[in-house]
Amino acid sequence: MDYEAVIGLETHVQLKTRSKMWCGCANAFGAPPNTNVCPVCLGMPGVLPVPNEEALRLTALTGLLLNCSVPTRAKFDRKSYFYPDMPKNYQITQYDQPSTLGGYVEFEFEGRIERVRVTRAHLEEDVGKSFHFDRNSGVDFNRAGVPLLEIVSEPDLTSAAMAYEYLNALKEILIYGGVSDCDMEKGMVRCDVNVSVRPKGGQELGAKIEIKNMNSFSGVRRALEYEIPRQIEVRKQGGTLIQSTRRWDDVGGVTEEMRTKEHAHDYRYFPDPDLMPLAPSEEWLAAVRARVVELPLARKQRFMRDYQLPASDAEVFKNDVPLGDYFEPIARQTKNPKAVANWVINNLRAKLAERREKSEVRSQKSEVDQSGLPSAVIGTSLAELKFKPAALLELVGLVEARTISSSVAQQVFAEMFDTGQSPAAFVQEKGLAQVSDSTAIEKLCDDAIAANPGPAADFKSGKAAALNFLKGQVMKASKGKANPALVGEMLERKLKGQP
Ligand SMILES: [Zn+2]
Repeated sequence: MDYEAVIGLETHVQLKTRSKMWCGCANAFGAPPNTNVCPVCLGMPGVLPVPNEEALRLTALTGLLLNCSVPTRAKFDRKSYFYPDMPKNYQITQYDQPSTLGGYVEFEFEGRIERVRVTRAHLEEDVGKSFHFDRNSGVDFNRAGVPLLEIVSEPDLTSAAMAYEYLNALKEILIYGGVSDCDMEKGMVRCDVNVSVRPKGGQELGAKIEIKNMNSFSGVRRALEYEIPRQIEVRKQGGTLIQSTRRWDDVGGVTEEMRTKEHAHDYRYFPDPDLMPLAPSEEWLAAVRARVVELPLARKQRFMRDYQLPASDAEVFKNDVPLGDYFEPIARQTKNPKAVANWVINNLRAKLAERREKSEVRSQKSEVDQSGLPSAVIGTSLAELKFKPAALLELVGLVEARTISSSVAQQVFAEMFDTGQSPAAFVQEKGLAQVSDSTAIEKLCDDAIAANPGPAADFKSGKAAALNFLKGQVMKASKGKANPALVGEMLERKLKGQP
């Protein structure tokens, strides 16, 4: 019998706010332990939480970006459990009336557009972090009370690879929307994975097994690549799977059982008596709606449609938003946006990367630049380019009109990148225009044939490749400026004795 996997993900994302969820402490990474704390986020008796309005707005915005509805009534609940790094011994979260409900994420997977339904995205708070040393342990509460969004998917995912793509698409949407920086290194995205298996095409769900607290997307993929075959094997052997929670051992590459259903928590959810229910007004929602941006997939599809770009180019402009934003207004002014895309992607991007690398080497030598900024962040940015966007159109025009060959165009581009010189002026000044004057080319062709009787005879006796050698000689003699098509035509005509 064939089995299939049923996967749902709960993704926790740290919101991009300046302060924490219920107090004015900074939401900042990397501060010395227990420096961004106050009586509220340390859970002292008698304190009262005050909601961070930007976190409420970002939650509603995420809902809109994920095609959810934003109910006109939501509330906060207490989820009771004990954690050494959670001072209140309850977490404020949203239980039965979350801030957003029922949406979906669309993404590309194996050449198709997949849609995974989102059950809800609700707001909660993060806990602190425990550190274990040789002889003792410590808790850092800097992260306690940082706003977290929990995005719960329906069990619509069917493979490890699909779960991985879903997570990447979700991350892109949140970064695009300015909801979160999603910096994995800083623990800004964490994930709980629910996975079960069932006979292929079946309707009933198997025993749900949860893999907790994954902090990398590749970890999620690897854990599923291990866990799915494990569950199928148990079923095939006639064994029973029971609802349980497992842990992913990244080094060993295996999942391990932590607890089973009998030991499941009873969280005793109840409405937080310190917090008023939320009732977003139409006006408030309209202000949030104004912050909705074009989604990454829509941007890619629009670049393919509006500028007739191949998927690979549109993908580059989806991933590198500033580069795409730079490309667009230029592309609108030309009949050949693909040529502009080639220059922007193949040449401009490479030059910018080269500059950035150089400045990184510099920054390793001297930690801080004169401006006081680490020089690694200084490298040339698009805003600092020496040439105007119109110069790129001019360059494309020169190639299209065959005024310059594509190899000369590379030289012209390098010059305009370094000095800001206009392409047409530079071509004029250096005499780089392609020679299409047939008398001049004819002379060069005659010379090449006379100087290379061997290859000329080879061509006449049927070796077509000999023409390329002669063509190369003419191009060399013209310093790359002869029109290559014209050279080819003329050589062939002469060797074949045509007029
Ligand atoms: Zn605080």
